[in-house]
Amino acid sequence: MSTIQQPSRAAKRSTKEWQQADAAHFLHPFTDFAALAKKGSRIITDANNIYLHDSDGNKILDAMSGLWCVNVGYGQKALVDAAARQMQELPFYNAFFQTATPPSIELAELLAEVTPPQFQHVFFTSSGSEGNDTIVRMVRRYWDVLGQPERQVIIGRHNGYHGSTMAGASLGGMSGMHAQGGLPIPNITHIEQPHWFELGGDQSREDFGLTAARWLEEKILAVGPERVAAFIGEPIQGAGGVIVPPTTYWPEIQRICDKYGILLVSDEVICGFGRTGEWFGCETVGSRPDLMTFAKGVTSGYIPLGGVMVGERIAKVLIEQGGEFNHGFTYSGHPVACAVALANIGLIRQLNLVSHVKHNVGPYLAQQFAELAEHPLVGETQTCGLMGAVQLVKDKAKRQMFDSALEVGMVCRGHCFGNGLIMRAVGDRMIIAPPLVITRPQVDEMMALIRRCLDLTLADVQARGWL
Ligand SMILES: *Cc1c(COP(=O)(O)O)cnc(C)c1O
Repeated sequence: MSTIQQPSRAAKRSTKEWQQADAAHFLHPFTDFAALAKKGSRIITDANNIYLHDSDGNKILDAMSGLWCVNVGYGQKALVDAAARQMQELPFYNAFFQTATPPSIELAELLAEVTPPQFQHVFFTSSGSEGNDTIVRMVRRYWDVLGQPERQVIIGRHNGYHGSTMAGASLGGMSGMHAQGGLPIPNITHIEQPHWFELGGDQSREDFGLTAARWLEEKILAVGPERVAAFIGEPIQGAGGVIVPPTTYWPEIQRICDKYGILLVSDEVICGFGRTGEWFGCETVGSRPDLMTFAKGVTSGYIPLGGVMVGERIAKVLIEQGGEFNHGFTYSGHPVACAVALANIGLIRQLNLVSHVKHNVGPYLAQQFAELAEHPLVGETQTCGLMGAVQLVKDKAKRQMFDSALEVGMVCRGHCFGNGLIMRAVGDRMIIAPPLVITRPQVDEMMALIRRCLDLTLADVQARGWL
């Protein structure tokens, strides 16, 4: 692993000074502005491999890969060099004026190679949200061109996450997002998520998987099959709390989509590029999508890039009968972003990261997480590849949760912050998605931190009389 040596910018100001300037001018995403201004941001100044450093000189194990994206770890010189080289050669040219650049063409070609065989075409964006906006327009355009313009309705899932633009937030099922800004936009509706621990009742996981998939069929029949355009889901819900569906779920979803001729969209923004132990999450869960959204891991977050893989069923119609598709972004196929993606995918191959996840660190993490279930606070653990969740509960025998107002997950997250570990809380579900380059000794190090933070949380919860 090569480190990039740079004079540290952090040295220029104290933590306090950074925090004051931050609070004065920077409105952070998904943040209570006033609360953060009072508390002060943590200033991350540099990073290497799976470790971050903050402006107070603390070393932090980043078990979230930034925001599910830094899959090859920090400090990979190949990606930096690719960006620098491309910036010098050609920092930008657009793809609107019947033009293209070598990196965007090469990346399109490489994506066709590493994605499942039904994908031979790509539409580039700069983010996952823009990818899902593109999906809404493309799916509706497809049915229009086929002479079925009444097929407008797209079905998503409660607690799914598909980004934060108008269409992305509409496809997602986050009630807090829908409550602000008049969402969802018309003709988007949702079904319940395949979350056995919360919704499974007395059913086995496998039976519940079938039940949850059949909610899609019920919804299709309620809307009217002739009006349904597509179903969208993450193979494994990420932001919703790393919810790994029962193995029966996706094959049944596929069967239902096939039965009604409905397009299946796999949002691979988190699951893509090796996270689940295959190149794409659909390969892990056993679905055959018509469209895939990607972003995050395509560049390991080194530079923004996203897009949509367009299956041949759709590409053929749009190419042969569609005429002009009135959609695109200034940065669709940005040469620097594409050059970084080429280097990133090259590195994933060179380091055999997909196989490393599938055969080495993934199973090792699964085993370590299974052992965590012994902990008094832990109701269940789940992993898939290098995604993991720990459900904190009040009573594990009864699968009884804490009162959500107590915010036990945030208590635990506070201990993680204080102990040099980035682990995220989604309600009382603690989640991780470490860089794919993590080694077994580093998994041990992460597990020791997780155990310590769970113990500290347990002591806290007991002291406050919440158990
Ligand atoms: C992060 C995410 C998005 C949105 O991507 P942005 O780049 O933040 O717009 C969409 N879908 C999923 C599954 C995500 O995790």
